[in-house]
Amino acid sequence: MKSFAYVSAPDVATALDAITEHPHAKFLGGGTNLVDLMRVGIEAPDTVVDITGLPLTAVAELPGGGVRIGALVRNSVLAAHPLIRARYPVLSQALLAGASGQLRNMATVGGNLLQRTRCMYFYDRAAACNKRTPGSGCDAIGGFTRSHAILGASEHCIATHPSDMAVALAALDAEVEIHSPRGILRIPLLDLHRLPGGTPHIETVLAADELITAVDLPPAPVAAHSRYRKVRDRASYAFALVSVAAALTTEKGTVTGIRLALGGVAAKPWRAFEAERVLLGAPATEESFRRAAEAELAAATPQSENAFKIELAQRTIVATLRQLLTDGSAQ
Ligand code: SF4
Repeated sequence: MKSFAYVSAPDVATALDAITEHPHAKFLGGGTNLVDLMRVGIEAPDTVVDITGLPLTAVAELPGGGVRIGALVRNSVLAAHPLIRARYPVLSQALLAGASGQLRNMATVGGNLLQRTRCMYFYDRAAACNKRTPGSGCDAIGGFTRSHAILGASEHCIATHPSDMAVALAALDAEVEIHSPRGILRIPLLDLHRLPGGTPHIETVLAADELITAVDLPPAPVAAHSRYRKVRDRASYAFALVSVAAALTTEKGTVTGIRLALGGVAAKPWRAFEAERVLLGAPATEESFRRAAEAELAAATPQSENAFKIELAQRTIVATLRQLLTDGSAQ
């Protein structure tokens, strides 16, 4: 590992000062991804700005019924929080589906959003990877693509975003609060991550001196009737082949509220707007669920080894909505 300077920041202003003074610095939260990447030489900051002492660890009710989550809330704390479990169960379930207990105890909300892909070619420094080394090519294309993207990919990168939490936040219309030397900015979570296009190394809209300080969940009665379903090769400690975050309300057999997002299929959490459009006002039936799932996946472009994800995503959407309907939580 390359040697680096270490700065411990007691407040946001100090953290921003440090990152401004050291253009090749990185913020350190739980370290569950950054430290791994530093060990293998994929990340090599000259300065690490430790932000774990910042006062960003609260989960607080917002006026009107929403919830503000500090960027340094640990994943395990958030998953167990009574407000989250009652109002946004899909978020609690998504967090518990991710990583392991030890990792969830360390990982922070902000870090979870900014974790990098688990594409195996990205981690293999002998492989060509446009994300790691722009312009070097992509050895995943034509290689082992079982876990790669089927939506929103490009000829330059077919990696997926690994977060479960972010998929639930995408379904919940979360907003991200960002501090920088230029002030405070708020953006929809759906605008945080970028699709790869011709610049897969640019993964988010954040500048290097911008720090995520909070995530806000707006009030959403539909969110109380929600679930997260993750399909993976192992029962635990594995990234999603496909995952679905869904919230559903019905009245007299008709869909009155619907939120759907997919994980494991794209370089960002994938909000299923097309499926939502098909479902809103439609009969809450298996046929409608299937029609909506097919509409969402119509644009999918699989690689040589992951065409199965198209059917898997459709079936997982249907199964998640069916479960919400039959267990009574969609009423
Ligand atoms: Fe790199 Fe993306 Fe290709 Fe993986 S899919 S090797 S991350 S460019």
